[in-house]
Amino acid sequence: MSHPTAYPQARTVADFTHNLREVGERIEAALQRAGREPGDVRLLPVSKTVDEDRLRLAAAAGRTMFGENKVQEAKRKWRNLSDLDVQWSVIGHLQTNKAKDVAEFAAEFQALDNARAAQALDRRLQTLGRSLDVFVQVNTSGEDSKYGLAPDDVIGFLRTLPNCSALRVRGLMTIAVLSSDVERIRPCFALLRKLRDHARELDVVGRGELSMGMSGDYEVAIEEGATCVRVGQAIFGARATPDSHYWPASQ
Ligand SMILES: *Cc1c(COP(=O)(O)O)cnc(C)c1O
Repeated sequence: MSHPTAYPQARTVADFTHNLREVGERIEAALQRAGREPGDVRLLPVSKTVDEDRLRLAAAAGRTMFGENKVQEAKRKWRNLSDLDVQWSVIGHLQTNKAKDVAEFAAEFQALDNARAAQALDRRLQTLGRSLDVFVQVNTSGEDSKYGLAPDDVIGFLRTLPNCSALRVRGLMTIAVLSSDVERIRPCFALLRKLRDHARELDVVGRGELSMGMSGDYEVAIEEGATCVRVGQAIFGARATPDSHYWPASQ
């Protein structure tokens, strides 16, 4: 892959500015390679495990939305940073009993993958008079260990979502197979795009955004059509916590 395996910790506003510029340049280069328009990708910085002090530095470097995998951690940061003008995207699996929290503070939820969670969120949002942007998570790697709907179930699920009128369906999200082999990663992204194209023909996926790509594979994702990349370590620095803490381990 084109990234070094060790990402240094960003500890100053200047570090964040530097990392954000570098990721931004790689994004633009990937867009150009793919023959896409400049600025066609949204960068979502993923701040899990990063404390509030460092998040303030990232905000000072110009970021206004952060992605968090765990609801409790996101809620704590939302509270502690309420003086800043930042929004929160929840990108991890939702237990139904946390729907109330997500409805309260999140601007976006990217890991919708079952009807119970959709209904619980919708009910809570209706009560609060809010709506929420959502992405439907798809398991494109075929690993049992991953969250997300099986590709064959996606269209049927999307067809039910108009019943949840507080949810604004924006598109699809996936986590590719964790591999350093691009030729194993790429088909996961291509599959998500194919599903999105089909869903668009049926008009069941809103704008049909594609949230795919992380620090190790966002350039490949952009070549395959990503409109949102979720990048943590390449912006904030390497995490000590293994990915298996956030989604069930895969080998
Ligand atoms: C942590 C995480 C990311 C970002 O991973 P990095 O390796 O830090 O770029 C992206 N998506 C999800 C769902 C995550 O949990």
